Amino acid sequence: MTAAHHYKIRPSDPAAHLFEVSVTVADPDPVGQAFAIPAWVPGSYLIRDLARHVVGIAATSDGADIALTKTDKSTWLAAPCDGPLTVTAEIHAYDHSVRGAHLDTTHGFFDGAAVFPSVVGQEDRECRVEVGPPADAVGGSWRVATSMRPLDAGQYEFGTYVVQDYAELIDHPVEMGDLLIGEFEVAGIPHAIAVSGHSTFDMARICHDLAALCEAQISFLGKPGDLDRYLFLLAVRENGYGGLEHRWSSALMCSRKDLPRRGAAKIDDDYRKFLGLCSHEYFHLWNVKRMKPERFSPYDLSAETHTGLLWVFEGITSYYDDLFLARSGLVTNDSCLELLARTITRVQRTPGRFRQDIEASSFDAWTKLYQPDSNSPNAMISYYSKGSLVALALDMTIRKESAGRFSLDDVVKECWRLYQEEGMPERGLETVARSTTGLELEDFFERYVRGTADLPLPGLLKTVGVKLHMRPASDCKDPGGKPAKTDTQAPPWLGATLVSDGGASRFANVLTGSPAERAGIAPGDEAVAIDGLRLTADNLDSRLRDHHVGDTVTLTVFRDHRLLRHRVSLAAPPDDTCYLTIDSDADEEAVAQRKSWLGQD
Ligand SMILES: [Zn+2]
Repeated sequence: MTAAHHYKIRPSDPAAHLFEVSVTVADPDPVGQAFAIPAWVPGSYLIRDLARHVVGIAATSDGADIALTKTDKSTWLAAPCDGPLTVTAEIHAYDHSVRGAHLDTTHGFFDGAAVFPSVVGQEDRECRVEVGPPADAVGGSWRVATSMRPLDAGQYEFGTYVVQDYAELIDHPVEMGDLLIGEFEVAGIPHAIAVSGHSTFDMARICHDLAALCEAQISFLGKPGDLDRYLFLLAVRENGYGGLEHRWSSALMCSRKDLPRRGAAKIDDDYRKFLGLCSHEYFHLWNVKRMKPERFSPYDLSAETHTGLLWVFEGITSYYDDLFLARSGLVTNDSCLELLARTITRVQRTPGRFRQDIEASSFDAWTKLYQPDSNSPNAMISYYSKGSLVALALDMTIRKESAGRFSLDDVVKECWRLYQEEGMPERGLETVARSTTGLELEDFFERYVRGTADLPLPGLLKTVGVKLHMRPASDCKDPGGKPAKTDTQAPPWLGATLVSDGGASRFANVLTGSPAERAGIAPGDEAVAIDGLRLTADNLDSRLRDHHVGDTVTLTVFRDHRLLRHRVSLAAPPDDTCYLTIDSDADEEAVAQRKSWLGQD
C-alpha cells in the first residue's frame, strides 16, 4: 500500500485573494522530486499557464528548508531528501470564472487545476485534501460545496476529503461561502445545487425542473456505474454566463435575472437559458467526461492536445441540451424550435463557415475559438453552433434514409457503449454512425464535417414535419427564432457591428464582402456620423432606416484620431435570420418522427 499525498488548502488571506496550498509527499523521488501546475484546464482548450498565479513557493522536510528550483514555466524541482517532503505555495486567486480560482471576503472558488501542484511521477496515488476555513472574522458562516468524497468532513463542512488520484483531484471544483443549497434525487442518486451570490429566487422550482431534466438524460444513456452523486455549483452574478463540466459536478455561472422569481409560473427566455446551460453540462457527464477523445486519454495538461473531435463532444452536446429541454417536458416544441432556429441564425450570419470546417475548428480551438479577434466571424466557425447543426442534419439524414428505423440517438448510445472506457478514435463517430445504421454516410462527413458546404436543413427538416423559413434581421439585436415583427421593416444592410466602448461607439466586426468592408471601414474605427447625423451603437438601426437599399451615404469615423470619410453603398439585408414552424400538413410518418425526436406531440 503506497502512502497517499496530503494536500491542504485554505483561504489564508481573503482580502488579498490568497489561498495557501500545500502537498506532503511521503516518498519523494530520491534524485529530486518535481511538482507541476497544469498549463490548461480539462474542458477549456486554451493554454492558461496557471502556474503564473503562484506568488510564493517553498519546500521543507523534517523542519529543514529544501532547495526548490524552477525548471520550466510550470514545474519546480525539490532537492533530494529522505522525506516526507512538503511544498507550500501561495496562490493569487482573482479570476472570477468557472475555470480558475477566485477568493475575496465574500466567498472562495477554485478549480483544482488552478491551485493543486501535481507530484510528478506519482500522479496515480490517492490524495487526501484538507479544506480549511478562513479566519472567523471573514467566514464564520461559510459552508463548503464540492463533489469530493468526505473522509472526516461533515456534509457541506470544512474538513478532509479523499480522491483516487491527481486526475480526480482536479475534477472536483470547490465553492466556499454563504451558500444556498437545494437537494433532489434522480434515479436514486442524490443531486444538489449550491448557489452563491443570490438569495431571492425560487429554489424549489429549480430543484423540480433540474430533476426532470436529469431524469430524462439518465433514461437516455443510462446511469454511469460510478455516478453516485452529482452537484451543480452555481455562482450568480449581475451579468455572467458560463459552465465547465466535471465527472460528478459542474461549475456554472449565470446572471441574477436568469433565475426564476418565487411564484413565477412560466419559463421565460432567461430561465430557459439557465436550464439549457444545466442541460449542457449534465449531458457532458457522459459525453466528454466519461466518453472522451482517445487523444485525451489520459490528458496531457502541459501542452495543447489536438483533436478534430471537439464538435462531437461540444456540438452534439449543444444539440442535445436543447432537445432535452423538450424531451423532459420543461419547454414546448415551439420553444425548442426557437432555440434551434437561433443556432441556425448564428451560423448563417458567420461567413467564416466557408473558410473553416468543423474538424479544423475543433483542431484549432486553442488558437482560434478560444482566442477570438475582430476577424473571427470571417475566418472561423464555432464547433459548438455548426457542430450542433451537423448533429441535427445527421439525425435527420439517418431518420430519413432509414425510414425512421434509426436516429442519432442510436449512434450516440452505441458510441457510449463502445468508447466510454478507451476513448473515441478520431473517426470513431463516423465508423459507428455507419455500422449502427447500415447507411453510406461517407459523403455526409466529407461535405459537412471535413467540408464547408451549407447543410441542406430545409429539406431534411421535412422528415420531422418542420418548415424552415429565412428572412432579414428586423434590427441589429434580432437573434432569430421568430417570424419578423409586422410593424417594422428591416433596415438596409451595412454588414458591420457597432459596440459601445466607454463614451464611444466602435465598429467591432466588419463582415467579408459587406458594404462596410467594401467602403473601407475597419474594426476599431470610432463611429462619428452618417450623412452628418451622429451615429452610435444605440441608433444604428434607426439611422440606417432613414435610407433605402441602394442609397450611397457618407459615413465618417475616427481612426487613430484621424477623421475619415467613407462612401458606403447600402445593400439589401440578407436572409440570414431563421425561424422554424410545425408543418400542420405533415404526413403521419413525419408526425411520428417528430414525436420520437422531441419526445412530445
Ligand atoms: Zn460544453
